[in-house]
Amino acid sequence: MNKNMLYRSIPKVDVLLEDEAIQELIGRYSRDTVMEAIHMEMDKLRRFIGECEEEEACRAQIKRLAPNIERTVAAMHTPNMCMVINGTGTILHTNLGRAPIGQEHMKRLSAIATGYSNLEYNLEAGRRGERYSHFEKLLCKLTGAEAAMAVNNNAAAVMLILSSLAKGGEVVVSRGELVEIGGKFRIPDVMEQSGAVLVEVGTTNKTHYDDYENAVTEETKALLKVHTSNYRIVGFTQSVGIDELIPIAKKHNIPVIEDLGSGVLIDLSRYGITYEPTVQESIAKGADVVCFSGDKLLGGPQAGIIIGRKKYIDMMKKNQLTRALRIDKFTAAALEMVLQEYLSEETAVRNIPVLGMITRSLEDVEQDAKELCRLLNEEGLPARIELAPCESQIGGGSLPLERIPSMAAAIHPEKISVAELEERMRHLPVPVIPRTVNDTVLLDVRTIERRFFKVIAEQFTQHKILEESSIKNKR
Ligand SMILES: *Cc1c(COP(=O)(O)O)cnc(C)c1O
Repeated sequence: MNKNMLYRSIPKVDVLLEDEAIQELIGRYSRDTVMEAIHMEMDKLRRFIGECEEEEACRAQIKRLAPNIERTVAAMHTPNMCMVINGTGTILHTNLGRAPIGQEHMKRLSAIATGYSNLEYNLEAGRRGERYSHFEKLLCKLTGAEAAMAVNNNAAAVMLILSSLAKGGEVVVSRGELVEIGGKFRIPDVMEQSGAVLVEVGTTNKTHYDDYENAVTEETKALLKVHTSNYRIVGFTQSVGIDELIPIAKKHNIPVIEDLGSGVLIDLSRYGITYEPTVQESIAKGADVVCFSGDKLLGGPQAGIIIGRKKYIDMMKKNQLTRALRIDKFTAAALEMVLQEYLSEETAVRNIPVLGMITRSLEDVEQDAKELCRLLNEEGLPARIELAPCESQIGGGSLPLERIPSMAAAIHPEKISVAELEERMRHLPVPVIPRTVNDTVLLDVRTIERRFFKVIAEQFTQHKILEESSIKNKR
């Protein structure tokens, strides 16, 4: 086999550039990326010929040069981040982006984000305005607080609060509340970062009023309560409520801070969910500063919302750190829209996707699950597909023990393993993330919108996902 001859039969760059398909690529994308792809694919081809011992295989590979260039250019222009279908039944899945934004909200958001906006411009007065102004009054109305602001996320909120109110001093926290949120966000570490000194009181399971009272010194700058949102201590337990801490704080003229984590504005127990203390309740009990996430049970954009007494919020707004943690126009706009829905519980539950999914009745989910099963069965796939009861979770470190009865399409593949099917589903053009239980792949319908049912069924057929050998996908 004459390798030199093979190398010489690779088309030259200028010849390739004349090629109609390549010309079309340059028109659709750009000359720069097409040139980069040409060089990449040429290098790959030369290496292939160098290692290959069969002339036929080499010639075939040379023929594939143009289509390979096309694929490489297309891949360079295809974002890696994409929409996925969440079949896990975990509503606030942190790895899958937590709370989805409602479609109506997104439409209005896109108008704001694609143009200019009054983000920091007061249209009344015709001068500089405040980026929190769009939702501050709304937050105060909904929660009963005097003032409000928001930063990048709740971790940032905790950091900003401690840095603004307790830097160089001590903050008293119960040992039962030294939470790790995940992603290595730990209360003691945040405390250290913020420049405040942690004073632990009580034990893991029990903390008493006296523990707090005895821990307060000249150096104490605040009392901190952390809602144990992602775990539960049960059995022989005791903790001290906000209302009990207020007299201690008043006596020493220091604030009581509460990190609520999830932050719910409506009473979810009406929908059969375990009662979670609401934000309004914290404020009513006298908490001076309260913070919570924007994209957990609130169902909004990623944000850390801080509410409380005006004098404290003003201190935070003036803190240099705030500039580094500030929210963008997208978040400000989305927060206002989501909070407006909370003006009535009815619109909140109807228009905020997370609340809709949590409060959906089992009958409703079952109807949808039957529909998904029907669509999948219509495709005549080599699998047994049937309706199966399952349990959804809230997720995102909220209500860790909560299980919501739900319904799934259960898929038992006939020709491939469950692990293989799960992997193939992840690689579809619109990836589908299921829950796998023993020898079944479950698609929990509580977290799948109806509009995706067809997408799932069609992809399964098109990509022969249940056959022994499937069609290799793009992703
Ligand atoms: C989730 C959580 C946080 C962190 O909130 P993010 O918005 O994810 O940064 C902080 N504190 C508590 C108690 C939480 O549950």
